[in-house]
Amino acid sequence: MQNIVILSGGGIKSAVCAWRYAKDNELTLVHLSFGQPASTAELNATGELAKRLPRAALIPLVLPHVTSLQRGGEDGVSSVGAAGVVGTPSNNPEVDALSPVMLAAIAPMMLSVGVQVALRVGSSTVVTGLTQSAEGAHLGLPSPDPQTDNRREMLHGLSIAFDALLTAKSRVKIETPLIDLGYAEIVQLAVRFDLSLEQCWTCCASSTLPCTQCQQCKARSQAFTQARSIDPATTTVPTR
Ligand SMILES: [Zn+2]
Repeated sequence: MQNIVILSGGGIKSAVCAWRYAKDNELTLVHLSFGQPASTAELNATGELAKRLPRAALIPLVLPHVTSLQRGGEDGVSSVGAAGVVGTPSNNPEVDALSPVMLAAIAPMMLSVGVQVALRVGSSTVVTGLTQSAEGAHLGLPSPDPQTDNRREMLHGLSIAFDALLTAKSRVKIETPLIDLGYAEIVQLAVRFDLSLEQCWTCCASSTLPCTQCQQCKARSQAFTQARSIDPATTTVPTR
C-alpha cells in the first residue's frame, strides 16, 4: 500500500481525486493556506474529507510569505506590483482573493510544496485536481487566464525539473487525473460515486457562506446545471 499526497482545497475536484486513490492507498491530504479569504472553510472541508476516507491524514500548511506578498502590509511589500493589484483591497472579492501577479506561478509553488511533503512522508506520488478547462479555474482561485497555470506544458516542465532535482531513490511523480475533464464531468463523477458534495467547499470569497457571486461559485453552479444535478449545498434546481 502506497502513501499518496493529494493537494486539497476542500472542493469537488479534491474529493474526486481522493476517492480515485483511496481504495488501495493511504492518503495524505495537504491544504495550503496563503491568505485566501476561504482558507478556513477550505481547511475545514479538507478535514471532513479526511474523516470520510478509510486511511487519510491531514497536513495543513501555512505559506505566510505568499500571504504577505499578496496582501502587503507590515514588511512594506504592499507597494510591489501594479497599483490596485497587490496590497490594496478593492472591496471586490474576485480581485481581493488573489492578485493575477501571484496566480501566474502559484500552481508550481503548490506542487513544489506537495513534493516536499511527499519526501517527508515517504510518498512517491503527488496528486492535484488541476484541469485545463477554462471554467475550472484551478484550485478554487480566480484567474485572468485560467489556463496559464494548468497547461500540460507547465506540468511536464515541472516534472522534468523535479526529476533533475531528486535522486532516482526519492523520485516523486505528479499525477493529474482530472486534467482533461470539464467541471460538469467532474460533478457527474462525484454524484455517481455519492461523494458528500454538500461538504465540498468551492467559494473563493468567503469562509462562512458561499457568496454565490465569485467566479468559483458561478462555475460550480454552472457545472451542476450542465451535469443536470442538484447541488446539495444550495437549493439550485437544474435547468432541463
Ligand atoms: Zn463565492
